[in-house]
Amino acid sequence: MTLNKLSVACCAVQQTARYVAARSYVTASTSSFKAKDVEITRTKSPAAKPDVSKLKFGHHFSDHMLEVDWSESKGWEKPRICPMKNFQIHPAAKCLHYAVELFEGMKAFRGVDNRIRLFRPMENMKRMLTSAERSALPTFEGRELVELIKKLISIDVDWVPKASKEQPSSLYVRPTYIATEPTLGVAISTTAKLFVIIGPVGPYYATGLAPVKLLADPQYVRSWPGGSGGFKMGCNYAPTLYTQTIAASHGCQQVLWLFGDDHQLTEVGAMNLFTFWVNEHGEKELVTAPLDGLVLPGVTRKSLLELSKKWGEFKVTERKYTMKEVTKALNENRLLEMFGAGTACVVSPIDGLFYKNEMLKIPTMNNPAVTNRCMKELLDIQYGRTPSDWVELVE
Ligand SMILES: *Cc1c(COP(=O)(O)O)cnc(C)c1O
Repeated sequence: MTLNKLSVACCAVQQTARYVAARSYVTASTSSFKAKDVEITRTKSPAAKPDVSKLKFGHHFSDHMLEVDWSESKGWEKPRICPMKNFQIHPAAKCLHYAVELFEGMKAFRGVDNRIRLFRPMENMKRMLTSAERSALPTFEGRELVELIKKLISIDVDWVPKASKEQPSSLYVRPTYIATEPTLGVAISTTAKLFVIIGPVGPYYATGLAPVKLLADPQYVRSWPGGSGGFKMGCNYAPTLYTQTIAASHGCQQVLWLFGDDHQLTEVGAMNLFTFWVNEHGEKELVTAPLDGLVLPGVTRKSLLELSKKWGEFKVTERKYTMKEVTKALNENRLLEMFGAGTACVVSPIDGLFYKNEMLKIPTMNNPAVTNRCMKELLDIQYGRTPSDWVELVE
């Protein structure tokens, strides 16, 4: 073995040892920051709030943020709620080089009764912890982070916009977790920062509830078996921006991610995909791709599956399905609706697929019955019009 190969091998052994060590933090559920330890510093210069009718997704942030630091030597430090600020970060921090970063996306809603609700926040925490584990970052108690998020929202409660029929606005909550160790080795980070920023949002698309067209080109692959596509890690999103420009050049707003030689439909942009059709056996069926590691396990996806199963009006199926099935259904007039589903847009109807150099017309808007019902029932729960144990009151 040459010296070079030897040092690579040693390095790999060391790294494995550190990974095993890191895994013990990951599984040590007793080691977490606690919400009751939070230190609060309030801003002396609150910002002006934006006009609710002009909210652009992800452009506006409230007066405060939450921050918790971790290090291998000291463990979790006390959580801090402080005025919104820029970070100081070492230029060698691992997140800046190897995208050791993960995030969540959830919303707080000002209900018709003026109370503030979070939608299934523990589902986001569960997912965040799986992303943390996949990033070899230490875990924490999800409940503690939810309590801190509630505290943060209650301090900035005036930033939760009042929604109207035309403006289904809400407060977007972005928990983020980054590896901060200031060294360049591709190795597990010994320091990390968890933070949460929040801000008012309107509809995700400038087009509102207008339908979107999707680029369906199998040469672009988002996710693969054994990869990280099933986790909300920043590294999955950077490569999609180029594809987004290709989509735009074909008049499409989003990308339909296909997978495999049989062109399986997985998901859309950063949303899960639902197809409502009359299947080959003549049954009405709502179908979505299974959680086999290729798609992100969306909270909206899970909720819509649970809701539509409860309606009991058609078959609800999680399975692999392909473009061949979709084009056949389209040709036989069995395809009824297609929509994306995710926290940011809730439900987004699809009216075209650009596939094999042809724009296939998807008839969703002829009668978007299931699309609209999914949208309405979720919003009714989120804004407190329908009582549900899926929501948690902020205070
Ligand atoms: C966040 C996300 C979704 C939707 O998840 P929700 O929990 O419903 O918001 C779907 N796909 C991808 C790739 C995502 O990043």
